[in-house]
Amino acid sequence: MSIETASYAAYVVAGLLFILALAGLSKHETARVGNQFGILGMAIALVSTIALAVNGNHEDPSGLEPIGIGLLVAAVVVGAAVGLWRAKVVEMTGMPELIALLHSFVGLAAVLVGWNGYLHVEHDAGRDAAHELDAAGLLGIHSAEVFIGVFIGAVTFTGSIVAFLKLSARMKSAPMVLPGKNLLNVGALVVFVALTVWFVLEPSLWLLVGVTAIALLLGWHLVASIGGGDMPVVVSMLNSYSGWAAAAAGFLLNNPLLIITGALVGSSGAFLSYIMCKAMNRSFISVIAGGFGIEAGPGDDKDYGEHREIQADDVADLLAHASSVVITPGYGMAVAQAQYPVAEMTKKLREKGVEVRFGIHPVAGRLPGHMNVLLAEAKVPYDIVLEMDEINDDFPDTDVVLVIGANDTVNPAALEEPGSPIAGMPVLEVWNAKDVIVFKRSMATGYAGVQNPLFFKDNTQMLFGDARDKVNEIVAALGADEVARR
Ligand code: NDP
Repeated sequence: MSIETASYAAYVVAGLLFILALAGLSKHETARVGNQFGILGMAIALVSTIALAVNGNHEDPSGLEPIGIGLLVAAVVVGAAVGLWRAKVVEMTGMPELIALLHSFVGLAAVLVGWNGYLHVEHDAGRDAAHELDAAGLLGIHSAEVFIGVFIGAVTFTGSIVAFLKLSARMKSAPMVLPGKNLLNVGALVVFVALTVWFVLEPSLWLLVGVTAIALLLGWHLVASIGGGDMPVVVSMLNSYSGWAAAAAGFLLNNPLLIITGALVGSSGAFLSYIMCKAMNRSFISVIAGGFGIEAGPGDDKDYGEHREIQADDVADLLAHASSVVITPGYGMAVAQAQYPVAEMTKKLREKGVEVRFGIHPVAGRLPGHMNVLLAEAKVPYDIVLEMDEINDDFPDTDVVLVIGANDTVNPAALEEPGSPIAGMPVLEVWNAKDVIVFKRSMATGYAGVQNPLFFKDNTQMLFGDARDKVNEIVAALGADEVARR
């Protein structure tokens, strides 16, 4: 069997492994093995692609020259070293921004592949490749692939960079609202379609420069226009775009595995965006169109009154006398790494006969499933960790709710204030419980940048400080109480 045939057979195996990886990643119990399928698939894909490049195929049997092989090895070694290092040092809370940055690389790669395709074929009509495509009547298709690939890649590139800047708090999370922003987006799309037709009919360097510039600006504008509360959808949407960008590059490079993988990432990302939009009661079209139809909310100067404070000992006392407790964790629990003392506190309370459950909002934290991962890490039993829809009706019968580092996901303004930037987003209705304790360090707003009227309700008390320290104090107080009773 030739190396070419073996490589294409390996591509089929890798494609199947990627499908198994996606299937595995859809459930807690199978996520680990899903990840292993993905790693194996990628290893097979890399080895077979390198073998094919080194040996050449039937269209180009010469394969890579020694300098090409040298460059390939250098790129793989540097990429693998940087990837291993980043993956080792990244904090769980830094994952979304790392993912956004990785999406930007896919976008940039698609732009470079597109440009290379143009320089290799259309730009140099005297070359064999251009003659062959022209003779087969495929030159127009090649030009369309170049143009569309560069467009999707450039939108993904700058869009992902803005997402990275917003997620890492290097850029304000509030939406940028330019006058006529919807018109700008639609206008850019219309110009892109017109330029594509022009380029297919008459390829030229200036058209390619033009579409690259328009797409870079559009990607920036699309993501900059979206408010912090809608960022989860943006991250999964960019994931989808990066898949389509990879698929476009696959067409240009004539690599079937890249097309399959790109399509898998593109469609699963689109599906995840759709699920997230449904969970947040957002219009899918409105979010992918860069906040189309979403206008900036009113300023946040409303006076909600005074808040009340409580100390850890008093919270411990309240908990020890409660019969039902619900914990609603958020991003702050991840920052404080408070999941371990929270698990310890849960154990202690359950030993005392208190019913403890967790209520998880679909976009709590900064990643889909972020809170579930943290709680599983701290060995909190799965059966007491409930989804928002499963627990929302139970709050009126709950004695105490502990809001640990959550803010936007428990904000009643989403339901009560139609002008709020998070209006319409379903939230955990914690304020219906008898007592609510909010763990945070200050009165600062959450990720969406909106004030939270929950903090000023009569049944809410604030426990200020780092969530981990405060939960540890409660655990200690609960222990002391046991000693006193012995
Ligand atoms: P928020 O981001 O709204 O709020 C987190 C709160 O935690 C802050 O108010 C902060 O207050 C507090 N906090 C931070 N550090 C600590 C600490 N060490 N100890 C105690 N408290 C701390 O959290 P939510 O989880 O409620 O909401 C998630 C938000 O992120 C939503 O707007 C969502 O749309 C968005 N998002 C979600 C993504 C996802 O996929 N899940 C992806 C991207 C964005 P203070 O500073 O006063 O301590």
